[in-house]
Amino acid sequence: MTNANDLFAATPVTRFPIAGSDQTFPVRRVYCIGRNYAAHAIEMGFDPEKEPPFFFQKNPDNITFGDFPYPVQSDDVHFEIELVVALHKGGTDIAVADALDHVFGYAVGLDMTRRDLQGEAKTLGRPWEIGKSFEKSAPCGPLVPASQIGHPDHGAIWLKVNDEIKQEGDLNQMIWKVPEMIATLSRYFTLAPGDVIMTGTPAGVGPITRGDVMAGHVAGVGDLTVKVV
Ligand code: MN
Repeated sequence: MTNANDLFAATPVTRFPIAGSDQTFPVRRVYCIGRNYAAHAIEMGFDPEKEPPFFFQKNPDNITFGDFPYPVQSDDVHFEIELVVALHKGGTDIAVADALDHVFGYAVGLDMTRRDLQGEAKTLGRPWEIGKSFEKSAPCGPLVPASQIGHPDHGAIWLKVNDEIKQEGDLNQMIWKVPEMIATLSRYFTLAPGDVIMTGTPAGVGPITRGDVMAGHVAGVGDLTVKVV
């Protein structure tokens, strides 16, 4: 969108391609849930029984559809394979029973994390952005409309690095289900069309290095291959 009075050209909106369509999905906000699979919460040193859901955000322009450039200021960058939910309707105080009506579709995504910087932030009680919300930190595949695939709530979610399986779980292991995440977020924020939610990662997170190839899969949604450059 250009405006003659703008001091400089506005940053272009990030847009998901939509599988099998010429239409695109313009992104507004990117919400992420933390520790949403019990086995991952345990591997990060937490008790999944004792936590209400909690969220952080990435920036819309952190979403990328190509290679993942190894970021600056970290020597311990981790992969997190996730189901991504994309909303085409917004609102506040959305009921769990109505939540899925707000979902346009789903994608396979990676919540790339500068684990060393996130760890420091946790220790010091600081925000997570420095570990989570950096350039190209959310490689994603195309959106697949729910009108074609329904609303996946079970089935395999896995990630291989260089053909070796690293993460393996099932969507049915999510502690907070997609409708609960939407309902909860809508009590704290005004959701809107274009909002996306990264729904957490199963156990097995670990580091990557330049040259690695990450290959992820989410049952019912598809596959995502991303090279670390
Ligand atoms: Mn994550």
